[in-house]
Amino acid sequence: MNILPFSRPTIDEETIASVADTLRSGWITSGPKVLEFEKQLSGYFGGRPVRTFNSGTCTMEIALRIAGIGAGDEVITTPISWVATANVILEVGATPVFADIDPVTRNIDLDKVEAAITSKTRAIIPVYLAGKPVDMDRLYQIAAKYNLRVIEDAAQAIGSTWHGKPIGSFGDFVSFSFQANKNITTSEGGCLVLNSEAEATLAEKYRLQGVTRSGWDGIDVDVLGGKYNMTDISAAIGIGQFAKLEKITAHRRHLARRYFDLLGEDFGKRTGAELPPKDFESTNWHLFQVVLPDRITRPEFMEKMKAKKIGIGFHYAPIHLFKLYRALGFKEGMYPIAERIGRQIVSLPMFYAMSEADVDRVCSAMIDVLG
Ligand SMILES: *Cc1c(COP(=O)(O)O)cnc(C)c1O
Repeated sequence: MNILPFSRPTIDEETIASVADTLRSGWITSGPKVLEFEKQLSGYFGGRPVRTFNSGTCTMEIALRIAGIGAGDEVITTPISWVATANVILEVGATPVFADIDPVTRNIDLDKVEAAITSKTRAIIPVYLAGKPVDMDRLYQIAAKYNLRVIEDAAQAIGSTWHGKPIGSFGDFVSFSFQANKNITTSEGGCLVLNSEAEATLAEKYRLQGVTRSGWDGIDVDVLGGKYNMTDISAAIGIGQFAKLEKITAHRRHLARRYFDLLGEDFGKRTGAELPPKDFESTNWHLFQVVLPDRITRPEFMEKMKAKKIGIGFHYAPIHLFKLYRALGFKEGMYPIAERIGRQIVSLPMFYAMSEADVDRVCSAMIDVLG
């Protein structure tokens, strides 16, 4: 039997043909495909301005720059995310402040966000782990009350909703990633939903060396930008993937239901493992994450599952315990829930091409290993 990976992208033949067309067209960098992809995304996000980039990470850095956040400013985020979420705060010279997570949703705890706000706080970067949104009403109440910007790290949340509205179709800055393992991919890439055409124009400048068109024959440079543009090759993949977003989300929800059904109602009680919240409304099931009981270590569990030819992912180690962050003064014991969950959390296989039989295989292995 082949090893079942924890994630694998699915690119259909039509998309591959469209990429080949782009390669033959003579225009392979940013061009008409990028504009078309941005237009489609904007339509999905209720007409809000959208710009694409070559990663999800840079969209958050650019949003912070547009908001004018830098040295002396504090930005509150979660310790349980991909390190990119906190790195962008350091990248613009601001100070990362962590707030511990909610053990059930594994997302940042909004009570702890409110408690961490100081006179220097300028923004919040919430992460929707596994695609599950935080309480969006509460998030924006806090932002309004303390006059804070929000940069939503919705890297994992395309297709997720809040009160039926797509994540990205409301709120402040919303950042998505199209990295290879995300629900839809461009191989590498991302997009940022903005609030106005003025912000979108600034985003374009930060995306490409700060260049602005001015006058009849020239360009000028008025801000320090980088090189973050998406290519038409990537956009061609993105257009093909985006057309399937609804199907992808529906299939992932179906797989998640099957995980709950096969593991059984009493799985948690029997094994001490913590399953994710049963949410078939708002989350896109980017990941199906389980927190292991303390009697088994994560490496031990991963080894045992590997022996049964099942790939297990792990998202994430607590950011504040990385060397770079320890050097800033963060240490063990500061965010105990994140530390416990960061030590024991695993991601079971979850991807569009996965079959019901694959879920069955994972569940029998889980019951064997933990049961
Ligand atoms: C993937 C991811 C990122 C980074 O996205 P890239 O496109 O790889 O730069 C940031 N935050 C979270 C939560 C992610 O899952």
